[in-house]
Amino acid sequence: MKYKNTIVALGTLALFLSCATNPLTGKKTMAFVSNSQIFPSAFAQYDKFLSENNVVSGTSDSEMIKRVGQRIAVAAERWLNANGHQGYLKDYKWEYNLVNDNTVNAWCMPGGKIVFYTGILPIAQNETGVAAIMGHEVAHALANHGQQRMSAAYIQQGLAVAGNFAIKDEKTRNIFNQSYGIGSNVLGMLPFSRSHESQSDEFGLTLMAIAGYNPDEAAELWKRMKANSGGQGPPEFLSTHPSNDTRISNLQSWAPKSKAEAKKFGVTSFRPLGEF
Ligand SMILES: [Zn+2]
Repeated sequence: MKYKNTIVALGTLALFLSCATNPLTGKKTMAFVSNSQIFPSAFAQYDKFLSENNVVSGTSDSEMIKRVGQRIAVAAERWLNANGHQGYLKDYKWEYNLVNDNTVNAWCMPGGKIVFYTGILPIAQNETGVAAIMGHEVAHALANHGQQRMSAAYIQQGLAVAGNFAIKDEKTRNIFNQSYGIGSNVLGMLPFSRSHESQSDEFGLTLMAIAGYNPDEAAELWKRMKANSGGQGPPEFLSTHPSNDTRISNLQSWAPKSKAEAKKFGVTSFRPLGEF
C-alpha cells in the first residue's frame, strides 16, 4: 500500500517536472520550474531589490563591474555557441550592478541578473579578482543551480506535491529568495552543494580565461577569502561558499586546462590584474 502511494506521489511529481540540460555537464537535470516561469519573477525581484538598495552608478568601480560582467557574458555566449548550445541565452537579460553595502557578497539571479556588494571589493582586490567571482556566479546561473536548489527546497517543504509552483505566495517567495541569495540577511541562503560549487569553480575559470583574465588568479582570490574567514565570523559569501584548501588546490590544477580552452578562442595572453 505504501509502495502504491509512492508510485502515485511520483506520478504526481512527474507532472510538474521538466528537464533542462546543464550545458556545463551535458546532463539533464530535473527542475520543477522552467526558465520561462522563473525568469519573469527573477527580473521583477531583481528590480525590487535595486529599488530598495543603494545602487552605485557612474563611479569607476560600478563601471568596472559592468565591464567585467559584459566580458564574462560575451565569453559565455562564445563558449555556448562553440559547444552546440546556440540560443541557450536567448531569454537572458544580463545586468550588472554594484550595491553600496558592507556585506561581503555577490550573486547572480536566473536570467543573468548580477549584484556585487561594495563589501566584497577589498577581497576581490583587483579587476581580475572580480572576474573570478563573476565567472563563478555566472557559471551557477548558466547551470541553473539556483533552480535546482529551489526544486530541492520545494521537495523539503512538501510544496512540490501540492503543485504550488507559481511565485506568488509568501512561502514560495521565501524559497525563491533563499535559493537565489537575495534577502539573505533575514533568511540565510541555501548553500550550494559541493558538486555545484566545483562545477562553477571549473567553468568559472574557463569563462574568465576566455574573457581575457588570468585564471591563475582565482586560487589567489580564494586564498584571500580564506584569510578573511576569521574575525567577526565568516563573510556572507563564505557561508554558502566555504573556502578550503581542496578548493584552492583544485583551482590551481584546473587553471592550465582553462588556459588551453581560452586558446581555442584566440586568447593567448591575459590582461593586467587591473588594480583599483
Ligand atoms: Zn558558488
